Amino acid sequence: MSQIFAITNQKGGVGKTTTAINLPASLVAMKRRVLVVDLDPQGNATMGSGIDKSDLNLSAYDVLTGKCDCNEAILHSEEAGYDVLPANGDLTAAEVELIELKMKEHRLQYALAEVKKNYDYIFIDCPPSLNMLTVNALCAAQKILIPMQCEYYALEGLAALLDTISRIQKVINPSLEVGGLLRTMYDPRNSLTNDVSEQLFEHFGDKVFSAVIPRNVRLAEAPSYGLPALVYDRQSSGAKAYLALAGELVRRVEGDKASTDTALETV
Ligand code: ADP
Ligand code: MG
Repeated sequence: MSQIFAITNQKGGVGKTTTAINLPASLVAMKRRVLVVDLDPQGNATMGSGIDKSDLNLSAYDVLTGKCDCNEAILHSEEAGYDVLPANGDLTAAEVELIELKMKEHRLQYALAEVKKNYDYIFIDCPPSLNMLTVNALCAAQKILIPMQCEYYALEGLAALLDTISRIQKVINPSLEVGGLLRTMYDPRNSLTNDVSEQLFEHFGDKVFSAVIPRNVRLAEAPSYGLPALVYDRQSSGAKAYLALAGELVRRVEGDKASTDTALETV
């Protein structure tokens, strides 16, 4: 059974796309079958997976507006090892066109229903706003993964996001749950980071991943080569942190046995 995660935070620059590239690449290293859905018109997850957004025959736009089937638009990234439903600027138009369409909140959910049997994990990289594209992601997903920086306003932004989530739960997707909070660009030497981190644990307990993603220049460089950090520099602290996160996610989703088996396989 596939698990569908929406990687969401309406704040930009918190590491959503970096997570949408590097967590899947780590799961591929653990022999999981993964699809990355790029739902941001900026197409950063597409480019960062080594797929040229200016050279797409079909994209998430065509899928959402019913111009093609999902499997026709999906591409395989040789570099990253996962499949991608790519996006580019066309997706901006989808937001407007969706409003006219029937079942506008459910378009992605129905599209993924066709292909989800092919994957163990599907990750949706959301745009930095709570618009109709994000609503489609929250409607299609079982779980939300929230990357966040441990800074002063982070908790305030989180409150707005949790409010949206609870409205989506009430109206369209009652089974949606928070799958985890991920602390990104983490600097343990910063006392504010530690304060915010503590508050997160107080409010969200074990929803907070123990794995943290440090600030690491390799994570910022890798997308310009169209590669996940794991391929660009396997030894980097960023690549290792995303591997640890993947291990933790697999334990949460599949239970302890599955992840021990995987660890033994990869030794
Ligand atoms: P979002 O998708 O939430 O807008 P991105 O993943 O695009 O955020 O990250 C914003 C910027 O920060 C990008 O330039 C990215 O390369 C950089 N970045 C993200 N995570 C890290 C990290 N852990 N260490 C260093 N740079 C990072
Ligand atoms: Mg992004």
